[in-house]
Amino acid sequence: MTGALRCPLCSFSTVPVAVPPLCPRCAVPLGYHREPSSQLAPSSLTGRGIWRYAPLLPDVEPATLGEGWTPLVPSSRLGPQLGVRLWFKVEGMNPTGSFKDRGAAVLVAALRSFGARAVADDSSGNAGAALAAYAARAGIRARLFVPAHASGPKLAQIAAYGAEVVRVPGPRERATNAVREACVSDPDLLYASHNASPYFVAGLTTIAYELFEDLGGRAPDHIVVPVGGGGLLLGLVHGFTRARELGWSGRAPRVHVAQPEACAPIVRASEGADPLEPAPRATVAEGARIPRPDRGREILAALHAVGGEAVAVGEEEIVTAQATLARAEGLWVEPTAALPIAALPSLLARGAIRPGDEVVVPLTGHGLKAGKG
Ligand SMILES: [Zn+2]
Repeated sequence: MTGALRCPLCSFSTVPVAVPPLCPRCAVPLGYHREPSSQLAPSSLTGRGIWRYAPLLPDVEPATLGEGWTPLVPSSRLGPQLGVRLWFKVEGMNPTGSFKDRGAAVLVAALRSFGARAVADDSSGNAGAALAAYAARAGIRARLFVPAHASGPKLAQIAAYGAEVVRVPGPRERATNAVREACVSDPDLLYASHNASPYFVAGLTTIAYELFEDLGGRAPDHIVVPVGGGGLLLGLVHGFTRARELGWSGRAPRVHVAQPEACAPIVRASEGADPLEPAPRATVAEGARIPRPDRGREILAALHAVGGEAVAVGEEEIVTAQATLARAEGLWVEPTAALPIAALPSLLARGAIRPGDEVVVPLTGHGLKAGKG
């Protein structure tokens, strides 16, 4: 594989490997960078979906299910009510029903190029389902370590793709430790950590390139995203930074963060408080229930670089936003995907977003994922 793995916080750089180490100086996960062989213009791109941007992704044989190329739909009611030009990027249209397919497609293709025969991850959510699907597509065995109490449509989806589900009793961290131990004792098993792998985040940059093309060759004023592990935020910020470096876009959008009050480490850290939450409270936005994101320092640096703000929203606001999207726009999403809609009034009230601005909200996951409406 060409390209390099680089630390997002210092100058450390190394060659691509299947399961990269953390930066030896900063102890943070690395990012993937590749210079295209010539100055790349949008007009020279071919094909549909994320592999349209192959010159900017790891140079590997794609494992594809038609991911990406999701619709950008204008708001018909919410935007006019709020006084902004609002668009929805409908990521629930991806093959497994969430934006994670962009990351999993690239991660699985990258691991296959390194000769992987089996991959493991700790996720009972959308990332687990995406990884299981792409592993099945690539002919690679998948083992997903999940908390013993995990259940619901996402777990059923993981099992349906033929992945081995390993239930680990106790708190969430036990599943993370179990996957690490399993990878040590079985050299054939590679830890495909979706939160830490540079290849997963590389796949998520494609949403930025797509948005730029969806809007006819420009960046929106703002993008508002839910943040759990932070991959979507980082994919957007890194992708638009790249688009500027390539001379596609003169500016980058401000990217804002929405988290549930029950688990809001990035909001707290951006306000200067201790970002570590010992025990997150329950939230309907289960995709954002990550009290200590692996890429937390990188998320804060990226947020600062683009002038983004971070907003926490209550459970009732999330449920109301989810219902409003379905009833006023015809878009049924899972609760985590409704976080940015719940955060819009606050962002307008504090002047982060102004009347008349153009705002994009990626709707990260389909409503069928949550199992109840
Ligand atoms: Zn570093």
